[in-house]
Amino acid sequence: MAIQKVFVVGSGLMGSGIAQVCAQVGIQVFINDISQEILDRALKNVAWSVGKFIEKGKVTGSLETIMGRIKTGTDFNVAAQADLAIEAVFEKLDLKQEIFRKLDEVCKPEAFLASNTSAIPTTELATVTKRPEKVLGLHFFNPVPMMEVVEVIKGIRTSEETMQAGIDFVRRIGKEPIRVESDVPGFLLNRINLVGYVEAIRLLEQGIGTVEDIDKGVRLAFGRRMGPFETGDLVGLDVSCGALTAIYEESKDMRYNPPQFLRRKVRAGQLGRKTGRGWYEYNPDGSRKEK
Ligand code: NAD
Repeated sequence: MAIQKVFVVGSGLMGSGIAQVCAQVGIQVFINDISQEILDRALKNVAWSVGKFIEKGKVTGSLETIMGRIKTGTDFNVAAQADLAIEAVFEKLDLKQEIFRKLDEVCKPEAFLASNTSAIPTTELATVTKRPEKVLGLHFFNPVPMMEVVEVIKGIRTSEETMQAGIDFVRRIGKEPIRVESDVPGFLLNRINLVGYVEAIRLLEQGIGTVEDIDKGVRLAFGRRMGPFETGDLVGLDVSCGALTAIYEESKDMRYNPPQFLRRKVRAGQLGRKTGRGWYEYNPDGSRKEK
C-alpha cells in the first residue's frame, strides 16, 4: 500500500520535522497536538524551514503548495483517513501507550502505526494494539529535514510487510533507511553514539578536557560536523538522559549509566538549546554565547 496520508501525533521538534519532510514530497499530513496554540507555533516553524529549503534550491514547489498539504488540529478522529500514523510525543511509556490505544481504535485496519521513540521498545507499544504486526519504529534524527538516515525498527511481532512499507516510506521521503532487526533500547545508532557521549561527560567531570576542546577535537579528528556536547545541546540533555536511563535499565550495562553531571544538569533545567543553556549558553536568537 503506497502511503498517501500521514497522521503525526505531537508537533514538537520531531513531529513538525516529520510533517515537513512528508509535505515536501507530496504526502498529505495531519498533525495532532494537545492545543491549537502549540500547533500554530509548529506550523510557523515549518513554514520558515520550508522557505529556507526552497531558497537554497533543495526543495521544489511553492511554499503555498507545500504548506497546503499540512493540516493541523486537536481532533484525533482524522486519524481514520491515514495510511500511516507516526507518534512523536514525549518519551513516556504510559503516554505513548495511551496514544497507541487511541490510534488502534481510530485508524483503518490496514494502516501502519509507527513510533519515533528514542529508546522505548516498540513491542511495548504494539502490545496495547490489536495489530502488533503493523506496528514498527521509525526513528528519525534531529533536525529531521537535514538528517539523511531513518532507522526502521522491527518489534517482536512486526511483519516483514510492515518493515518493507516502512523502508519504502523512508525512501519516498528522500531518506536512507537503516534496518534494525530488534527493538533493543537505543536501537543501533544511539547505542553507538551514546557511549561516546557518556565518555566525553566523564572526561569533562574528571577535568581532563574542556567542553570546547573535546568538541573541537572530535570534529577535526573524526570528521564530524558537531562534537558530543554540541550534539547533546541540540538533542536535549533530558532526551539523552532519558535514552541512557532506558538502555541502562534494560541492559544493566554500565557504559550507559547516565553520568551524575548529566543528571544534575537535567535537574537544574539546563536542557540545551531549547532552554538557552546546556553545555553551552545561547542568545535568544539561538546563536551561541562566546565565553
Ligand atoms: P518535544 O517535547 O519537542 O515535542 C513533543 C510534543 O508532543 C509536544 O508538542 C507536546 O505538546 C506533544 N504532546 C504531548 N502529549 C500529547 C498528546 N497526548 N497528544 C498529542 N500531542 C502530545 O519532543 P521531541 O524532541 O519532538 O521528541 C518526541 C519523540 O521523539 C520522543 O519520543 C523522543 O524521544 C523522540 N526523538 C527525539 C529526538 C531529538 O533529538 N529530540 C530524536 C529522535 C527521537
